[in-house]
Amino acid sequence: MSKLLIKNARAIVTCDTEDRVLTGQSILIDGSKIVALGEDLAADNAEVINAQEMFVYPGLVNSHHHLLQAFSRNIPQIQAFELFDWLLFLYNVWTNVTPDYLYYSSMVAMGEFIKYGGTTMFDHHFAFPRGKGRNMIDRQFEAAEALGLRFHAGRSCFTRGKKEGGLPPDDLVETLDEVLEDSLRVVERYHDPGEFSMRQVVLAPCSPFSVDSDVMIESAKLARDKKVRLHTHLAETLDEEKYCLETYGKRPLAWAEDCGWVGSDVWYAHGIHFTDEEIDILSQTQTGVAHCPVSNMKISSGIAKIPQMLEKNVPVGLAVDGCGSNDASNLMADIKIGYLLHRLNSSNKAPTGYQILKLATVGSAKLLGRNDIGSISVGKAADLFMINVSRLELVGALLDPAAFLATVGYSRPVDFTIINGKIVCKDGKLTGVDEEIIKEQAAQEVAKVYNRF
Ligand SMILES: [Zn+2]
Repeated sequence: MSKLLIKNARAIVTCDTEDRVLTGQSILIDGSKIVALGEDLAADNAEVINAQEMFVYPGLVNSHHHLLQAFSRNIPQIQAFELFDWLLFLYNVWTNVTPDYLYYSSMVAMGEFIKYGGTTMFDHHFAFPRGKGRNMIDRQFEAAEALGLRFHAGRSCFTRGKKEGGLPPDDLVETLDEVLEDSLRVVERYHDPGEFSMRQVVLAPCSPFSVDSDVMIESAKLARDKKVRLHTHLAETLDEEKYCLETYGKRPLAWAEDCGWVGSDVWYAHGIHFTDEEIDILSQTQTGVAHCPVSNMKISSGIAKIPQMLEKNVPVGLAVDGCGSNDASNLMADIKIGYLLHRLNSSNKAPTGYQILKLATVGSAKLLGRNDIGSISVGKAADLFMINVSRLELVGALLDPAAFLATVGYSRPVDFTIINGKIVCKDGKLTGVDEEIIKEQAAQEVAKVYNRF
């Protein structure tokens, strides 16, 4: 097993249970694991990284994404739309998704994520157009493996199309049997529940207005039988709330509860429009929320009550959301934007910059059911990133390394991203793939789709 010694770091923001920020200390990695943390560490045959000018952070964990949207960004026609109209336009783009399309859009978005300090990605993939090929999730695992990314795939679906009163077009709709069969297949093929696992599967029907109760109920049963987690969009917009009241006769959370979708193995994307009583239910059941500040701002969905959720000990993580509504896969940028959003909205009740960083590390890790990632601690997986802060523009901005990413922010690719003990990004470049080749191939996939319009 190879060893890596990160030597004499200017600061290590551990995000550990004691919230330690270490200065002048080193990290020894053996294989996948952090095996020592301290002063004057040495190791024979270890590759050494001089970290004297580096701030070191735990790898960022994205708790909600749609990788297919890398190729549906910055579309002029929908930049002023809110969620339902935005989706109605984009469903037509997504009927063109093939396994190759998804492979390259995943490569692009995962590559960007890694370059900005990302180490674990959860993706929520819902587009399985009829006749376009079933091996979508398979191609995502393939992309993640090439890049060295720790990947949790959400096998999502649409089961309520237009003719049943749902939002998606009927050719994006699957039957209950098709969904359950492919969900079971990907769980059995890819889900690894072990320590330092690089591949996990989550069952994740898409949203209250695109699936029916049956697929929610049956997915919950299957997930609990196979011991995998559950994820869906919930309480994202007031349009969704109105849809639930009209269709199910109840609010979104009450519908989810009726389907068996609360508990410590469940987390929702967004969770903006919860009442105080509903936040109490999340707290009592330890049901989690992936907070997506940039997406929520871009499509005017609202501001999640994150200060109240944190006060009530609701599990909260940070997420990019799909890069169609972000329009990027850079979770490091979202730390700053999320921090500023809540400062504006809640003043001194807002989370601190360090608390927002923790949402993007240990917070998101908890949503994914992982206690082996999210902090720089002995025994945890060696997932971290490093920034050389010896730059003209950062002089005078380095007093608080724990808050730095939220307050000052950092807007360029990092110097090192390490996942499971391997350097996957060095000097801002991916090490697992030839970026020039992937860039050309991905651009050809984009051209194929847009040529159809
Ligand atoms: Zn989403």
